[in-house]
Order: sequence, then structure tokens, then C-alpha cells
Amino acid sequence: SFTAELVPQAPEDALFGLARAYRADEDPNKVDLGIGAYRDDSAKPWVLPVVKKADEILRNDPELNHEYAPIAGIASFTSKAAELILGGPDSPAIKEKRVTSMQTISGTGAVHLGALFLAKFFPGTKKVYLSNPTWANHNQIFSNVSLPIAQYPYFSKETKGLDFEGMKAAIHGAPDRSIILLHACAHNPTGVDPTLEQWKEIAAAMRAKDHFPFFDCAYQGFASGDLMKDNAAVRYFVEQGFELVIAQSFAKNFGLYGERAGCFHVVTGPAPDAQATISRIASQLAILQRSEISNPPLYGARIASTVLNDPKLFAEWEENLRTMSGRIISMRTALRSKLEELGTPGSWNHITDQIGMFSFTGLTEAQVMKLREDAHVYMTKNGRISMAGLNTRNVEYFAKAVDKVVR
Ligand code: PLP
Repeated sequence: SFTAELVPQAPEDALFGLARAYRADEDPNKVDLGIGAYRDDSAKPWVLPVVKKADEILRNDPELNHEYAPIAGIASFTSKAAELILGGPDSPAIKEKRVTSMQTISGTGAVHLGALFLAKFFPGTKKVYLSNPTWANHNQIFSNVSLPIAQYPYFSKETKGLDFEGMKAAIHGAPDRSIILLHACAHNPTGVDPTLEQWKEIAAAMRAKDHFPFFDCAYQGFASGDLMKDNAAVRYFVEQGFELVIAQSFAKNFGLYGERAGCFHVVTGPAPDAQATISRIASQLAILQRSEISNPPLYGARIASTVLNDPKLFAEWEENLRTMSGRIISMRTALRSKLEELGTPGSWNHITDQIGMFSFTGLTEAQVMKLREDAHVYMTKNGRISMAGLNTRNVEYFAKAVDKVVR
């Protein structure tokens, strides 16, 4: 029987524990390279100027109220979100009406809804292959709905780039019709993405085994600054006629972290009865959504929808995206060149080869702990740094601290 004493203590979430330790540190030089949230050059959170404008528009709209959203969310938001990830209204999936979209509790909620949907309706063994390493939350989101998880190799410790051969071998070795989780761009935690040529090979390998792609897209536009570049893998798979699902977050690219704006999309393959299939899928998703959250939150989706539906605001958003991605890319260049100037042992080209919020530095756990103790630099034990935590004032300090622990 259930009694309260039987509930064991769970470990603290590693990232939020790290943030707590950072806050408690009183050293004036402390550096936070932990959590994946954008910071400006003064290490402050940045409200996107276009988000401020959208907020103003919403506040002056006398028609707005606090009624429930529809179960599937705000349609003007989800339809534009689908266009964004699929590459516009000319996407074959959109033209042929082979997409259904549900507004979710940001990217996490989208991955969860997808996991729940596949747990219920995906035929066969339902084994989900995750990259090694992956966003830590993937493991528990899929485990929580009792989907068996397995790993495919992803990161090469030698090159600090993609273990492409290992990844392909695992895709070939997985049982037919496995679910393969793919990071659409700006892989978390490594910052390592396949090239488009490699994506084509991955798609061919998946097609040969009839695997099912589950794309997680948390960084569109935030990675390269170009929305169409960051969705290229998803677009390619859709062009190839794959049936697939997509979890989409607007946390990073709109800076709407706490507002929880996201979408889950199902794309069916091209078939004469595709529209009937998609409408049955939509009906099942609505039931899952109803039992989980009833209906999604309004504010973040209203902000994103205001921007996505107005060409002028959309262009401003793209400018804001270039500001964020550009600052991060410039910090990659700065960090690499400082380390190279210092003659820090090892090669540092991976810092600029990697993309997005994170870099997998190759620092060991012992080095990470030493950086924390000696230099008050906070990063996860796996050697991942959030590039957004670096700025023109602390990048040299950080490079010197790394140089010291590496020697
Ligand atoms: N997926 C990946 C790979 C991520 O890195 C993140 C955020 O760090 C998410 C999903 C979801 O984040 P959120 O729920 O804040 O949208």
C-alpha cells in the first residue's frame, strides 16, 4: 500500500542545483555558464525588442480576454508555427494538408505529448533511440510514459565533432521501425550538428530500416540566425516523404522561456487518404491534451502569434535572432582565439565548429570542478558551457582559467 514514508528522496535536478550554487557564490568575478538561456553582453536576460512591441499591441487590444484557449491552442499561432518549422506555405506537407499541430507547454510539453502519443499508438517495440549524450530531460520524459530507451553514438571524444560512423551503424543496427530522436539543429549538449550531406545519409539509413523520426527543435533561428538554415534537416526529411513528428519550442528564439510557448506537429506521409489519417490523429491528440492540460497557456502564444502573423514584426524578429546568434558566434571566435593566443594545450577549433547555445569543451569533470573552486566558473560536469554566459568582459578571464586547469 502507499504510505508517505515509502517515497524516496530524489536527486536535485543537476542544472537547477548548479544555478543555486552560482547564486550563493559571492565572488565578484563568478561566471555562469550553466543554464541554457540567452544573456546580453552585460550578462543580463534580454527581452527581445520585438516581443516588447507585441506585448504593447496585446495590452492595447480591447478585445482580448482570459477565456480558455481551444484544446489545440491558438490556431493563428499553431498554423504559423507549422509553416516556420516546415519552411513556409509551399511545404508539400502543408499544401497537401498532412500536418496537425497542438500548442504545448513549450518544447518539454511537446516532447511529452509526442512521447505519450507514440506510447499509445506507435506499433511494434516502440524503442526510442536517443543520441549519446542528449538533453538530460529526454531520458525521463520517455521513461515516464514507459517507452523503452536506447542510445546511438553521437559525439566523438577524439574530434569533439560528430561520430558519424557510430551513429549510422547504430541506426542500421536498431530493430526495424524504431523511433529515432533527432535534434533539428544546435544539438544540446554538444553543439555538434550533422552537415546537410550527413543528414541525407542519415535519412537514407532511416528509410532503409523504416525508422520513425522524432525531431526536437528548440533553437530554430537561434543557432545560425537563419530560420531556413536551422530547419533544413526537417525540411529535407519532409521532402523525402517521411512520416514524422516535431517538438517545437519558442523559449530560446523568442526569449519566452517562462511563458511556455511550444507546438507538437505530426506530419503524415504523402498518401491519397493522408487528410483522413491526419484528422484521426488530431482527434486522438485532442483527447490526450484534454486529459493532461485541458488547454494551453495564452500569453506566450499570443506574443509569438502577433509576431509570426505580421510581416514587419517578423522581419524585426529575424533581426533580433541575428543579434542573439551573432553575439554567440562572436564569443566562440573570441574564446577560441584567446585560448590559441595563450597556447593552451589541445586544439580548440571545435569551439567555433560547434553551433548554438552550447559548446562541449572537452574539459573533464575534475577540470570542471577545479574551475568552480579556483575561478568561480559554473558549468555542468560533462564540460558543457552555455556560450551565452560569455561576454566581452569575462571571456578572457574564462580563457585564462581554462588555460590554468588544462596545464
Ligand atoms: N529540447 C532540447 C534539446 C532543449 O535543449 C530544450 C531546452 O533546453 C528543450 C527541448 C525544451 O525547452 P522548453 O521546454 O523550455 O521549451
